[in-house]
This record gives sequence, C-alpha cells and structure tokens, in this order.
Amino acid sequence: VEELMRKSEKLSVVGQLAAGVAHEIRNPLTSIKGFVQLLRQEVNHSFYMDIIISEINRLESIVGEFLTLAKNQPPKRERLDLRILLQQVVSLFDTKSLYKNVEIIQEYDEGLPFIYCDGNQMKQVFMNIIKNAIEAMPNGGIIEIQISCHNFHSVRLTFIDQGVGISAERIKHIGEPYFSTKEKGTGLGLMISHKIVQEHGGTIHIESQVNKGTKVEVMLPIKQPSPVENSI
Ligand code: ADP
Ligand code: MG
Repeated sequence: VEELMRKSEKLSVVGQLAAGVAHEIRNPLTSIKGFVQLLRQEVNHSFYMDIIISEINRLESIVGEFLTLAKNQPPKRERLDLRILLQQVVSLFDTKSLYKNVEIIQEYDEGLPFIYCDGNQMKQVFMNIIKNAIEAMPNGGIIEIQISCHNFHSVRLTFIDQGVGISAERIKHIGEPYFSTKEKGTGLGLMISHKIVQEHGGTIHIESQVNKGTKVEVMLPIKQPSPVENSI
C-alpha cells in the first residue's frame, strides 16, 4: 500500500502533463462537434452522425474528467448508491462486452449503505478496472463484480476476471505511470484509479495468477466525516 501511495505521488508531474494535453484536445474537439452537428442536418445517415456525436460527447467528458482530476480538486462528496453507479458503468460496456464475448455478472449484498463519493471520479475507477478485465480476456469469459459490506466502516467491491493475469514481476510495476503491457495502452488507468480511491480514503488491492485471472479489490469507507461533524 505504501508502495502504491509513493507511486501515486508521481501523478503530480504526469497530471500536469495530462492536463496540458487534455486542454489542447478540448479546443479542436469543440469545433469538430460544432461542424458535425451542422453536417448532421445535411447528411442522410443521421444514425452514423448520432454515433459520432455521442462519441464526441464521451471524449469531451473524458477530457473534462481528466482536467478536473489534474487540477487536483478534492473529490465532491455526494451521497450515492454504489449499485446504481456500477450498473451505469456496466451498461456502458454492454455492446463492447457482447462483441468480445464477455459476460458481466453482478452480485450485491442486501442493504448496502450509501457511500459519500464523487460519482464521476468513482465511475472512472470502475470503468478503468472493467476495461482492463475485458482487455485481459481476448477470447471472452466472465467478469464477476461483487459489492459487499466488509464491516461497519467499509464496503468492498471485487472485480474478478478469467483473463491472462499479471506475473509477479509485472505486478510490482502496476500503478506506475505509463506502465502498460498493451500495444495501445496508456498505463494511466490504474494510477489514476489509485489516486481517486486514495483521496476517498479507500484502497485498491490486486491479486493475480498468470493465465487464471485477476482480482481487483476496492475498499471504500462508508462515511467520510465532514469537518463540521468532526468539530462537534
Ligand atoms: P493500460 O490498460 O492502459 O495498459 P492500466 O493502468 O489500466 O493501463 O493497466 C496497467 C497494466 O496492468 C496493463 O497494461 C496490464 O498489463 C495490467 N493489468 C491491469 N489490469 C489487468 C487485468 N485485469 N488483467 C491482466 N492485466 C492487467
Ligand atoms: Mg487500462
């Protein structure tokens, strides 16, 4: 855990870099969106245009999230239902997982407590983890997601895949910026996820067996005491 915390300190440098890039991407994206919206009225294939526009919107929100993250703002604390949050993220992967022959199974404990977290940031964490799980199973397989009450203080989310796994040698480097074993990987997903979860007072733990699969465990505290409550 300390190791991962140390790694996430590197984010400040990477974060600044990323913020710069994100900023540069945002302007051309805005003009592309404007012109595509204009084109949409001219073109018969509005179905394709709708896809293009919705993908541009996605890019915009990713860039936006990156910028907020890089600005190092403390997470917003909203009272949220993790189950709903996770279902929203899983539904984003519906077509992709179908196409990749991946089945996502979700299991929830009864009476899960609400969590005080930044919904967008937490979604980004779940997206990164699920995306990695799908990418680890090129021939398809099952992803099992569980949310359980760990104890009175924390909720545990586990993401289990049946993918290629991570060797002991490589697992040491997970969370380092730009560490990726993928051709098109950024090696930023898990580092950002660690940072977000850490800022929420939680932890991420990864266990893996080569060619068997990987288990990612996210622990989140149930309640973040606000400064006002602390002083009472
Ligand atoms: P990226 O996905 O862009 O490579 P990440 O930070 O998300 O960057 O992940 C870093 C690396 O960790 C990946 O390249 C991969 O080697 C490894 N990894 C992460 N999750 C998994 C998983 N579920 N199964 C196998 N390897 C994984
Ligand atoms: Mg990734």
